[in-house]
Amino acid sequence: MTRQHATSQLLIAACLAMVAGLAQADTLVTNVTVVDVETGDLTEGQSLLIRDGVIAALGPGIEADGATRVEGAGGYLIPGLWDSHVHIFSSEKEPDTALPLYLINGITGIRDMGALWPIADQKALQSRIETGALLGPRVILSGAWVDGRPGSWPGMFLADTPEEARSVVGRIAAEGWAAVKSYSMLTEETYLALAEAAGNEGLPLVGHIPEPVALGTAIAAGQDGMEHFGRIPMACSTKEEKMLDDLRMAMQDGAGQARLFEIMAARNAIILDSWDAALCADVLARMAEAGLHVSPTLVVAGFYTGARPGADTPRMRMLPAAVRAAWDRPDFRLQAMTEEVRALADKSIALDRRSFAMAHAAGVPILASSDASFANPFLFHGFSLLDELDIYVGAGLTPREALFTATVAPPRFFDLPDQDGTIAVGRRADLVLLAANPLDGLATLRTPMAVIVAGQVLDRFALDAMEAELLQAGQ
Ligand SMILES: [Zn+2]
Repeated sequence: MTRQHATSQLLIAACLAMVAGLAQADTLVTNVTVVDVETGDLTEGQSLLIRDGVIAALGPGIEADGATRVEGAGGYLIPGLWDSHVHIFSSEKEPDTALPLYLINGITGIRDMGALWPIADQKALQSRIETGALLGPRVILSGAWVDGRPGSWPGMFLADTPEEARSVVGRIAAEGWAAVKSYSMLTEETYLALAEAAGNEGLPLVGHIPEPVALGTAIAAGQDGMEHFGRIPMACSTKEEKMLDDLRMAMQDGAGQARLFEIMAARNAIILDSWDAALCADVLARMAEAGLHVSPTLVVAGFYTGARPGADTPRMRMLPAAVRAAWDRPDFRLQAMTEEVRALADKSIALDRRSFAMAHAAGVPILASSDASFANPFLFHGFSLLDELDIYVGAGLTPREALFTATVAPPRFFDLPDQDGTIAVGRRADLVLLAANPLDGLATLRTPMAVIVAGQVLDRFALDAMEAELLQAGQ
């Protein structure tokens, strides 16, 4: 090989690396305290070398000639946060706002749980992020939702029979989704076929426990992840079967959606009356044993109680004006609330939180989740995940336990090869640098010193600039 040939080979390699977004220089982050979220151990005076988006060296006194230096100033380094239940594709330009909002809030990974974009367009965005062409958190596409007809949202996969369930799972596997998501109006027979078919394809089954299906049935069917929390207090009620029967009979009689909503709305009062601690402990022990992961989305309840941030708050001002206007219009879910549900809301929320604390204590694995989406009023990309973590602490988890649900549990559940919620050599460099020890309180998450995503460092200056840009766009 001639010298010139070798040089041009190098040039080509460099260009390819640039195209792939890998041309960034090594980065040396100095003088940080590494937080082990699993054990609570703190290791002071550490330096961290990042190369090609991966942690290449970690320890005291590391030097690296030519590396870009980032002074850690004694800050606390944690793994990047995950929001395990979001919707960033519910409107045309949503990722333009959502992606920076996640990074600003220290969230370097999101799982999308249902989209209105075609899968090809979702995958294109996912791969632009992966190659570094677009700045954003890591995205897992888990929105292959399957519902009974007519479907709760436009564009869902629909299945009314076991045969249809099997064929839908075949399509989901062929399209390359990360999981099958069950939805509310599947019949039990169709749901069980869906669970079996997902298992045969090696795809996890995550999603809603369908309204006519008992939680115990879903545990036995091998459901891997369940979205939202309401079915847990319901399964802690001595009347769960009766409530399910009422709905099944109405569905069989061909009752309209209004009647079905009415039956479901009546459940809150029944659950408050018949919630049983011993029964609850039994259900939760079975969930923990089965490893059924829960994405609680407790923050959603705030919307139903009418909690609203002011129009002048940064989180509101960073939204596109059209989204703010849409959120001001009456919402179909609020309109479906009966006076009875409204009157019981505080008690229902308190019972949810008590059941949540019991679930955590029982060892039910939890994935911190917000349900943020432009289609879900007052659930904010980024901010709502931090609100959700505060709710966990309010319900009795320690800050470390709450952080675990957002840093360690998600990558392990998603079975990612390069991420497991530890800060170690060989792991993907998705990290957050904090001014204070987060194990003493999570308030420090609100103003990170720096966020590192796939090795790219966004210092406070860069994060402020991203905020300013969103405020400008939200005018
Ligand atoms: Zn959702």
